[in-house]
Amino acid sequence: MTNDASWTPPDTEPPATGSLLDTFGRIADDLRVSVTDRCNFRCTYCMPAEGLAWLPKSDILTFEEITRVVGVFVSLGVRSIKLTGGEPTVRADLPVLVRMLRGAHPDLEMSMTTNGLLLDRLAGPLAEAGLDRVTVSCDSLMRHRFEQMTRRDALDRVLAGMRAAEKAGLTPIKINCVVIGGTNDDEAVEFAEFVRETGYEVRFIEYMPLDAEQAWERAKVVPNADLLQQIDAVHPLVPVGHGADPATSYRFADGAPGAIGVISSVTEPFCDTCNRLRLTAEGDFRSCLFSLEEVDLRGPLRAGATDPELAALIRRGVWRKWSGHRINHPDFVRPERSMSMIGG
Ligand code: SAM
Repeated sequence: MTNDASWTPPDTEPPATGSLLDTFGRIADDLRVSVTDRCNFRCTYCMPAEGLAWLPKSDILTFEEITRVVGVFVSLGVRSIKLTGGEPTVRADLPVLVRMLRGAHPDLEMSMTTNGLLLDRLAGPLAEAGLDRVTVSCDSLMRHRFEQMTRRDALDRVLAGMRAAEKAGLTPIKINCVVIGGTNDDEAVEFAEFVRETGYEVRFIEYMPLDAEQAWERAKVVPNADLLQQIDAVHPLVPVGHGADPATSYRFADGAPGAIGVISSVTEPFCDTCNRLRLTAEGDFRSCLFSLEEVDLRGPLRAGATDPELAALIRRGVWRKWSGHRINHPDFVRPERSMSMIGG
């Protein structure tokens, strides 16, 4: 698959029916839906300590608008959605949205990625409303380091949030762990031991150039292959593969519970199997985390566009999806928005 800087988006029209196809033959069937740009953490690799200029409420899609747009995506073949943000649990009445989406789409796979801080009280209501499972972000199992990375002394509450999610049946519990060289790259084996005890799956994510403060540097990217090697030396691993899932997963050779996943966006990009789309909190649609273009869906939606008209905009946006991000190319250009504004 080409990843050539001279590539320009096609001037042809996408097929008017069938799956959401791009010109490289990939089918998009997974949608990340950001429900807010706000967050109650200030992770150093994502957001400045003082936060960002939050979107005004009127710019953010209402629950009715989100449900309508998700419905259009589902009619185009999207089979799974992940609620995200910002921090999705800071959006007021989130279980109401989950109930609306579940009511409209009984078979849709619906998960959420969260920092876990509010899960102790929200896990039950979210599960009852129809959420299937959660991924909880947790970058360190050491209290002081967790606080250093998130700027919040909240490790105990996050761990309690994971337990609450497990109790509510939001399983399998996955943990997202962003690894940064010189900060938390010595905890791989501790995380492996944690998932062997709990049965959770930890997914190590390579640090990406999507931090608002633009402090990312390649030297701080820790190749996931190194982490796997460290774990394998102590607890031998067996690969279990991955389909369209960005994480390659491993189980423990001795049959212990738990799993290890790696999302190696920088050192081993998986763009050629990417099936993902993204909807920002204010209704912009992106076909790649690193896209430099977006399709405004909120404008047409509020101007009275019909579902087929929205569907045509989405089809066209997917058709223009590029072959892959260009982090590893000298001509890489960061998107204007950082991770929390896109919806990670
Ligand atoms: N607040 C929610 C959470 O913590 O999962 C959802 C949004 S957050 C932006 C989604 C994921 O993106 C988190 O796991 C976070 O650690 C990750 N993330 C944020 N900035 C990143 C970066 N620069 N590189 C890699 N991952 C990043």
